[in-house]
Amino acid sequence: MPKTPYVIPCADDCPVKSDLEGIFSKIDENALDPRILCIIHKSVENFPKFSDSKARNLGFSALFDFCVNLGYIYGLQKEQEFRGGVYCENKVVFPFVKICPVCSAQKKEVVFLEKGSKKPESAVIGKIGEATLTGILDAYFNYLGNGFRAFLIRDTAEKKVDLVITDFKVVCLGEIKAKPLVSYPLCLELSELNEKKHQLVDVKSNDVTRSYLFIPHINEYFDLGKTTDNDWPFGAALKIVSDKKNVAKIITAWQQIFDEYAKTDDDAAFNWIRFLAFGGGAYKKNNIDDSKNRPGLDRTDDIKKGTYQVLRYGANYAIKCKEGNVKCVLVGNTYGETHRAYFEDIIKIRWTIDGTKTYNLFDAVIGLTDNRFNDEYLKKHLKM
Ligand SMILES: [Zn+2]
Repeated sequence: MPKTPYVIPCADDCPVKSDLEGIFSKIDENALDPRILCIIHKSVENFPKFSDSKARNLGFSALFDFCVNLGYIYGLQKEQEFRGGVYCENKVVFPFVKICPVCSAQKKEVVFLEKGSKKPESAVIGKIGEATLTGILDAYFNYLGNGFRAFLIRDTAEKKVDLVITDFKVVCLGEIKAKPLVSYPLCLELSELNEKKHQLVDVKSNDVTRSYLFIPHINEYFDLGKTTDNDWPFGAALKIVSDKKNVAKIITAWQQIFDEYAKTDDDAAFNWIRFLAFGGGAYKKNNIDDSKNRPGLDRTDDIKKGTYQVLRYGANYAIKCKEGNVKCVLVGNTYGETHRAYFEDIIKIRWTIDGTKTYNLFDAVIGLTDNRFNDEYLKKHLKM
């Protein structure tokens, strides 16, 4: 087994040591675009003073969305062109759910778009999400000064574990469910264009005079510069988060959507901004965004898969460790906000394989918008 530059806390005669060496040898420290990493660090530096740990957790969850949003927007430009944008009010917008952000913001109600939603492929969503969430957690641990690091495991066919969270005294093996709550539309300004409302148009990068990240419900256009800029849109985004006021705005705007989303109840009357979130379902019989796109851990299929994975980590690795150093965690960018009861039924389960020693099903569920700990060491030392 190749030597890794990381400390594995188990003694040489611990039966799990070589497994952990195998996992650690696949750590991918370059999974996240360094420009996004820079934006994470600058944002955290400029975070507002949070009133409590809950507000702080929400701040990091909001930052996850902002970073993934930039990744989605970056992916819209292909060969110096933006295809299939939605023309509305002298602009071309690229929303990620089926509402027109310009009309909806004006009317303060859901304005359905038949065509033009630009949701990335699920493989892209997964890839950007996992790398970004690991980077966010790593930055969060650094912010807390808790001595932990988060590492993504390289994506290979035989990959068994998504990420490792460790303070080099314990090792958490984790399954990730990372999908944003909201991605705001890209908005392009052009010198000359006149089309029918909501007509789909292709735009050459050279024809774009200015680009913006449009936050519809607070009517904010964050300047992303020219799309021909070398480091578009990351360079401009770094400037945005270099201003503390902008960072506070990004978090507050996100939290408004989160609050609407989290109070979801099938019979409730919804504020339109809830439909800016992914997985909002139908509004007046129009499917705005499929409920399978719900963020983070908030989908029963993902909870099911995640539950099996942590059980497998337990049976394959945790029970082998003589020192009890291996923990099993489920990680998401949001908790199962609209599936709290579904989680609650199983969250404290302990299991046994030989009828004597018992183990936590989840040593922790880290969902940022809520974190649950069954393992005392993690609760005490992660301090989330
Ligand atoms: Zn419109």
